[in-house]
Formats: sequence, C-alpha cells, structure tokens
Amino acid sequence: MLTVEELENIKERLGKQFAKIVMEAHATLDAELVHLCSEVDSTRGEEHLKALGGDLCGLKKVIGVELDLSAVEILSALCRIGENTYGRCMECGADLPGPLLQSHPTERFCSCCRVNHRQLEHN
Ligand SMILES: [Zn+2]
Repeated sequence: MLTVEELENIKERLGKQFAKIVMEAHATLDAELVHLCSEVDSTRGEEHLKALGGDLCGLKKVIGVELDLSAVEILSALCRIGENTYGRCMECGADLPGPLLQSHPTERFCSCCRVNHRQLEHN
C-alpha cells in the first residue's frame, strides 16, 4: 500500500509527464482539451481530481488515437487515482507493491496477472 504522500507524489509526476506529452502533441488538440490537460497538471486536491476523473476517462477516448500509448497509460492511471482504484491489480484486485508503483507508476497488474496478460496478448 502507498502512503498518502507517495500517492500525491506519483499523481504529481504523472500529471507533469502527461502535460509534457500533451504540450508536444499540442497542434492536434483543440483548446478545450488543452485546458482540461492543464487542469490535470495543476490539480492538487483529491476532490478536484475526483471531479476531473470522469472527464479524464472521456478525454482518453477522444485523444486515444492522437496520443501515444504512454499518454493513454498515464491518463488511465490518473483516472484510477480519481476512482480510488489505483495501486490495485485490475485482474485479481491484489495490492501492488509500493516500490513497483514508484518505478512503474502506470502498472495495472500484479506480477502473476501481468504474465497471464502478456501471454494472452501474444496468442
Ligand atoms: Zn493480479
């Protein structure tokens, strides 16, 4: 489990990474999306991010084609933080180890389920 401080830290890192990617893809995005993305970057409060969570998931659908995979992964991690499902395996629900999340903040699966998923994707 992550402490509140660790989660805040990851949230901030992801927000900055995402904003950077969005800035680079700026030309393909309209003003509204850029505004939403800048909100992600400046978001600090839990409530605000929660409120933004729904929009972020919609945003992911809109820009999923335009942005590369890492941006989509960052967005979905931010969505999961907003939904309070961050840090849990999306397959079996197990808590992901803190050090894993620190080094791979967009990780969605525990090590067992990740292996299963990779195999499924390759079959
Ligand atoms: Zn799992």
